[in-house]
Amino acid sequence: MIVILKNGIKKEETESFTKYLEKFGVEVHPIVGETQTILGLVGDTSKIDTTVIQSNRLVEKVMHVQEPFKMANRVFHPENTVVDVMGELIGGKKIAVIAGPCSVESYEQVLEIARSIKKSGAGFLRGGAFKPRTSPYSFQGMGLEGLNILKEVKKETGLPIVTELMSIEMLDKFIEDVDLIQIGARNMSNFDLLKEVGKTKVPILLKRGMSSTIEEFLMSAEYIMSEGNENVILCERGIRTFENYTRNTLDLSAVPAIKKLSHLPIIVDPSHAAGMWWMVEPLSKAAVSAGADGLMIEVHNDPAK
Ligand code: PEP
Ligand code: MN
Repeated sequence: MIVILKNGIKKEETESFTKYLEKFGVEVHPIVGETQTILGLVGDTSKIDTTVIQSNRLVEKVMHVQEPFKMANRVFHPENTVVDVMGELIGGKKIAVIAGPCSVESYEQVLEIARSIKKSGAGFLRGGAFKPRTSPYSFQGMGLEGLNILKEVKKETGLPIVTELMSIEMLDKFIEDVDLIQIGARNMSNFDLLKEVGKTKVPILLKRGMSSTIEEFLMSAEYIMSEGNENVILCERGIRTFENYTRNTLDLSAVPAIKKLSHLPIIVDPSHAAGMWWMVEPLSKAAVSAGADGLMIEVHNDPAK
């Protein structure tokens, strides 16, 4: 339920009204605008009599939210959310570009790539240190050593770092060292992990699960936000369909759908979607045309090897 308060209601009045609403056993999340405050009620609102709330002198309007996600819902927060990652904005006017290798392989490799992507205009450096691989026999990433390489390269280039967190044990280290924590497609439904990153204030890049609906994707964002971390950026990275020419099917319709349903920024990862380098350029253009707030592109210094 969304309660829109009248213009110019005093802070103390909002606070006492919030306490009153909390007595119904719901959580109240205020969005304080310049002239108006909106209260988002999360939880079981069935015991609340809408007519009583509507007749309160502080209240302009009461709205019911049909979708199961509240904090991620655009109704709850009509303005676009802009996430600040070390002064680089995602969700604003500029298309955010995150680029870098799939995996961190060495200091020299990451530094070479970072310098090159910076020159090309990218604002963020990505690179996996802990890799979620389909096969346990594939390279699992350099782990903490890889994280340290990213940190060193950040000192050189100033580019904020984006890297994937796979387990809760590493969270404290990531809070210290990582500017934008990636939750990968395979962990989109790891609700314990989502809750833990939700308790931090570090911006989170949440990738869409490979077989997840748009609603499930937004519910995962809701897990993070309901713990208090509202700095969530969504990433469409392709979904499983019957088509097997491409690695995944890039669901570009998710971009306008999410723009309509949610206020959160959404970026597109054409690399993991298509799995073919020559598709990255046309799909990037299409993503931006569809309204994406940014792109995440894999880059390698020696792709042939
Ligand atoms: C990645 O970005 O490195 C990655 C593994 O992507 P995804 O989780 O989308 O498969
Ligand atoms: Mn990859």
